[in-house]
Amino acid sequence: MANVQQSTTATAQGPIEQFDAIVIGAGVSGLYQLYRLRELGLSVRLFDDAGGVGGTWYWNRYPGCRFDSESETYGYSWSKELLQEWDWKEHFSGQPENERYLNYVADKFHLRPHIQLKSRVTSAVFDEKTNRWEIQLESGQRARAQFLVMAVGILTARYTPPFEGIESFKGESYHTSRWPKEKVDFAGKRVACIGTGATAVQLIPLVAKEAGHLTVFQRTANYCAPLRNGQVSPETQAQWKASYSEIHKKCRETATGFTHDFDPRKAMSVSKEERLALYEKLWVQPGFSKWLANYRDIMTSREANEDFAEFVRNKIRARVKDPVVAEKLAPKDHPFGAKRIPLETDYYEAYNRDNVVLVDLKETPIERITPKGIKTSDREYEFDVIIYATGFDAFTGALTQIDIRGEGGQTLKDKWAEGPKTCLGLQIASFPNLFLAISTAFGNYPVCAEMIVEWITDCIRYVREKEYARIAPTLQAEEAWVQHAAELAEGSLFAAGNSWFVGANIPGKKRVFLLYANTVPAYRKRCAEVAAKGYEGFLLQ
Ligand SMILES: Cc1cc2nc3c(=O)[nH]c(=O)nc-3n(C[C@H](O)[C@H](O)[C@H](O)COP(=O)(O)OP(=O)(O)OC[C@H]3O[C@@H](n4cnc5c(N)ncnc54)[C@H](O)[C@@H]3O)c2cc1C
Repeated sequence: MANVQQSTTATAQGPIEQFDAIVIGAGVSGLYQLYRLRELGLSVRLFDDAGGVGGTWYWNRYPGCRFDSESETYGYSWSKELLQEWDWKEHFSGQPENERYLNYVADKFHLRPHIQLKSRVTSAVFDEKTNRWEIQLESGQRARAQFLVMAVGILTARYTPPFEGIESFKGESYHTSRWPKEKVDFAGKRVACIGTGATAVQLIPLVAKEAGHLTVFQRTANYCAPLRNGQVSPETQAQWKASYSEIHKKCRETATGFTHDFDPRKAMSVSKEERLALYEKLWVQPGFSKWLANYRDIMTSREANEDFAEFVRNKIRARVKDPVVAEKLAPKDHPFGAKRIPLETDYYEAYNRDNVVLVDLKETPIERITPKGIKTSDREYEFDVIIYATGFDAFTGALTQIDIRGEGGQTLKDKWAEGPKTCLGLQIASFPNLFLAISTAFGNYPVCAEMIVEWITDCIRYVREKEYARIAPTLQAEEAWVQHAAELAEGSLFAAGNSWFVGANIPGKKRVFLLYANTVPAYRKRCAEVAAKGYEGFLLQ
């Protein structure tokens, strides 16, 4: 089939560049999507708001930022050459190295000529006559393509609570996901950190060491578990390089895309001593093993979950010297794993320092930000720096920030007012040729992203080979998927907390479990079956 080559059309509103496909987002998902679509022979332009490639690893530069996936499983699995060339320095790699890695990928695979940075997409409108999407950037620049892939990320749309007086603060303010490239100097300063989620837990121990004084404002205590990071020895590096195919095979087979896999037993089917022995064994292991190699019913049985939750609370109590502070840090209002488990290094020890204070916002909520600092219900605190570690409008935020209009001018924002509706999390009824390269599977992100990108690539190849102009799920197929996903979520403790998994951190956001509460292999199988049946449930025209 002849490729539609990149071209430019002159219009009354100025020139519009034409492509076969447009990708939005230059993170792990978007870079791979660009590579695969170029490999198909398509003309592609990737747009990203950022000043560099890397997505998450471009924006999040705060001290301590790193991934909690094992490095050898986070890197792309699709290029044997890349796997052999790249050396990971740490077992859980930090932001600078992750950003370097994705830049290396962009160079190695000659992706840069197809990437336009500092380009925020503000709208995307489907033209039913030509079956093309037209996107517009903040600058007014426009471009058109038959296929539009949204690789805009799950944790991209940063969230800052609308505190009264926020603009009046005279000191420095930073949101963790818009951290400056220049080093922020905390030496001798009075610093506030609002939030105690996974990001804050990485940042607090490092800022505590440097700042004159650090006050942590906590709304919800989290179950934090030791990361146990370390440098990768040359022997381990060589071992990984020799066994990447087995490592990746394992990641494709486990429930969550990691090399960790759940213990096949139910927690209460073994004796208390045996349970404790497994908990202690997992506790000294690195990474998410405490969560994802635990008894298989930890996220379905309240009894099993509470048994481990109490074990974690006792670990916290043992590390924090002041028993009053320890109780504030020990979560009691949600099951273990119902919020993303932060992995930490010296987090709890930070509260044993003389220069660190914990403020429990359940007891004394923030009333406003003042020119001098933060006013809670009982007093005003003065600061030189306020850090907002207040997270993201997860999954849907980056999409609904773009004015996306499908058939009949229907907006995505309206369509999703009662929660996101998709088929397989990948396409949306009445929004033809629009693909969501955003993983809703719960698991190691790059493993899921590769699966999704490959599904989208195969789908686009199919549409072109069969000479269809458009593909979108039927409304019935979409409704069936939404119902199926909701039924799965009902039985899962993942959905049982006031977390970003359910949109609870964003006032007014419809409470819907935003992940697909099934295993990664089950999700992959379902997506593959739909494709194998000629995209069953999808309308090809
Ligand atoms: C601090 C942190 C730690 C994490 N740790 C882990 C971990 O341990 N393991 C794991 O599996 N995952 C982790 N994640 C999740 C992480 O987001 C994924 O691993 C992965 O980086 C997502 O890649 P992506 O390409 O899908 O999206 P992103 O990397 O988020 O990239 C999306 C890109 O889209 C761009 N974009 C969005 N909207 C627009 C627009 N309108 N116009 C132009 N550009 C736009 C953004 O600028 C961004 O560059 C972490 C996330 C964060 C924030």
